[in-house]
Amino acid sequence: VSSRGCLKIRGAQIRDLLDSKHNVLFDCDGVIWNGETVVTGAPEVVTLLKQQGKRVFFVTNNCTRPRENYVQKFCRLGFTDVAEEEIFSSAYCSAAYLRDVAKVQGKVYVIGCQGVLKELQDAGVPVVEEDNDSSSFSIYDFPLDPDVRAVLVGYDENFNFMKLAKACCYLRNSECLFLATDPDPWHPLRGGRITPGSGSLTAALETASNRKATVIGKPSRFMYECIASQFDLDPARSLMIGDRLETDILFGINCGLATMLTLTGVSTFEEAQQYKDSDSPEKKDFVPDYVVESIADFLQVLEE
Ligand code: PLP
Ligand code: CA
Repeated sequence: VSSRGCLKIRGAQIRDLLDSKHNVLFDCDGVIWNGETVVTGAPEVVTLLKQQGKRVFFVTNNCTRPRENYVQKFCRLGFTDVAEEEIFSSAYCSAAYLRDVAKVQGKVYVIGCQGVLKELQDAGVPVVEEDNDSSSFSIYDFPLDPDVRAVLVGYDENFNFMKLAKACCYLRNSECLFLATDPDPWHPLRGGRITPGSGSLTAALETASNRKATVIGKPSRFMYECIASQFDLDPARSLMIGDRLETDILFGINCGLATMLTLTGVSTFEEAQQYKDSDSPEKKDFVPDYVVESIADFLQVLEE
């Protein structure tokens, strides 16, 4: 296995790379926006890539919004030409997995948020939604739904002990599927704060149930398979751009794509180099082929 480059590129090198690719997969947070703040130049980059015949996809582990709300967010932040069909979120892909792959016969117990519930509903997957105020039952004696055949965990700001208790009871049945929208440990907020990610909630349930969740979001290949089932994709002509080495870059590598780290988000160039210099073969799978400061670096070559 030849080691990946972790190569900082600009100008003509970006031009040559883009010339060799037909599909560009963008992670969202940390790449095209940070929370509600657009990365300067990102909307223009997306528009120019499309005008130059590239196909563009957005691959996000953020399960909090259904696809239609993403379209609104794209518009609000100045991306005027992004269609719902181009947006693949961990919530949308979790629903696709439950419907098309697991073909779950029964209900799904959801620890999650509106984005997950809406996508499952749109996919026709029956759900059991936990009442956020479960104070009417004792945590030692609560009702369980006999029709639950899967547990899905995602980002849930109303995560509580009752949800954890019920979910691990459902998972006592080895035929009950255990899925997680994404493994993200935490996310940056403004002012140096962070918020725990879906992965931290999944870890609690993995410990309580002594089982491992099947992860739907990046770095799992499934999100790529979702895109590939709807669009004809040649991995050799596709580029994955992300800001987190352990999810986005590993995802690209798992799917056989060229990978690019952008430094507008979570991971640093130093971290990428440490992975490159490490002796562990697993850590080498976090090393991107290319590094740019920002995707705004594309503007110069796209405007030529
Ligand atoms: N999940 C949640 C709840 C988030 O807030 C974020 C980023 O803000 C993400 C996931 C990561 O999203 P992405 O994969 O677009 O970086
Ligand atoms: Ca990201």
